[in-house]
Amino acid sequence: CGIVGYIGHREAYPVIIKGLQRLEYRGYDSAGIMLYDNSELKVSKTKGKVSDLEARAQNEITLNGSIGIGHTRWATHGVPNDVNSHPHLSNSGNLCIIHNGIIENYEPLKKELINRGYTFKSDTDTEVLVNLIEEIKKKENIKLGKAVQLALNQVVGAYAIVVFDKEKPDELVAARLGSPLAIGIGDGEFFVGSDATPFIEYTSNAIYLEDEETAVIRLHKPLKIRKIKDDTTVDPYIQELQLNLEQ
Ligand code: GLU
Repeated sequence: CGIVGYIGHREAYPVIIKGLQRLEYRGYDSAGIMLYDNSELKVSKTKGKVSDLEARAQNEITLNGSIGIGHTRWATHGVPNDVNSHPHLSNSGNLCIIHNGIIENYEPLKKELINRGYTFKSDTDTEVLVNLIEEIKKKENIKLGKAVQLALNQVVGAYAIVVFDKEKPDELVAARLGSPLAIGIGDGEFFVGSDATPFIEYTSNAIYLEDEETAVIRLHKPLKIRKIKDDTTVDPYIQELQLNLEQ
């Protein structure tokens, strides 16, 4: 039940693992990570604890890369197992998503996608969402941020999500409704978290997304926030964090 993301100049792996550990208090049954490096999208995920993920990732993937997302899962659709753990990839293998929350209308959406030729590896509602985003992106020939927005307009439920697109690897797209999501703004780097604890030692500037907002987080570009429903832009409200670092 936690989300972490990083894009910048540091090694993403330690930032994400430490962030997931800070979010452990939220409770979870599985954990997973995606790292992107050198045109390669690497995913490792497992039922169990963040320490189980660390052990597995070390054997399964190379841990380098300055872009990544991490997740702890509290299963709602599909039992806790390795396959149902996040991140989830789209059918093309280009899109990668982490999600906290529930897509309530995932069944009709899944049926429609199956009719269009999509296949599913997991029992999760989340894998439906990432393929819906992919289908819309392809069909409308639009950018990821816009495709996420259109897909979320079809969704009933609650979510905090982060999506990565291998075709646009300098960018993360985040959105929320119901579940919290904070974005940390550093110098040439961005952080994402379910709260600010994953990035408090790196920056004291944070934006808390409001419900039904989506953010396009692009390296060396100003953050772009839009309302999902009416497509209006929102001026980012940057808050100064004052958290106690002595823990
Ligand atoms: N509904 C999603 C799942 O069951 C996300 C659960 C969560 O919030 O971690 O995989």
